[in-house]
This record gives sequence, structure tokens and C-alpha cells, in this order.
Amino acid sequence: MRIERSGVVMVGVCAVQTGVCTAKEPGPITAVWTAPARNQIDVCQACLNKMVGDGVWKEEVAHEQNQS
Ligand SMILES: [Zn+2]
Repeated sequence: MRIERSGVVMVGVCAVQTGVCTAKEPGPITAVWTAPARNQIDVCQACLNKMVGDGVWKEEVAHEQNQS
């Protein structure tokens, strides 16, 4: 799945909750957008790093314009 970081940091519960999750209880999380569906996923930094590191999520370059 392709994702795009919003860059927004807020307090909330992580929606992914891998084994390394730091926000199973409300904590600092960021929002990412799936591509191309643009669904928002709230995820903590640890889970984001794990999902990208494991290759489950592939990061999109944010400035790409040609989405149809
Ligand atoms: Zn998490």
C-alpha cells in the first residue's frame, strides 16, 4: 500500500498497533494518507517506521501532482 505523510502530529491512539507501538493509549501520533484512495490512518512514529521498514507501506513523494 502506498502512503503519504501528512506531517501533522497530534495526540491520539494508533490505528496500526504493531508490537513496537508507542500509542496504544493516547500519545503522539501522525496522520498518513493512503494513495490513491486518500483514507486517513492515524499512526505512531514507531509503527510508521516499522510498516515502511517492512515494506508493507511504500512512501509516496508528497509533491507528485499527476494523480488521476
Ligand atoms: Zn503504533
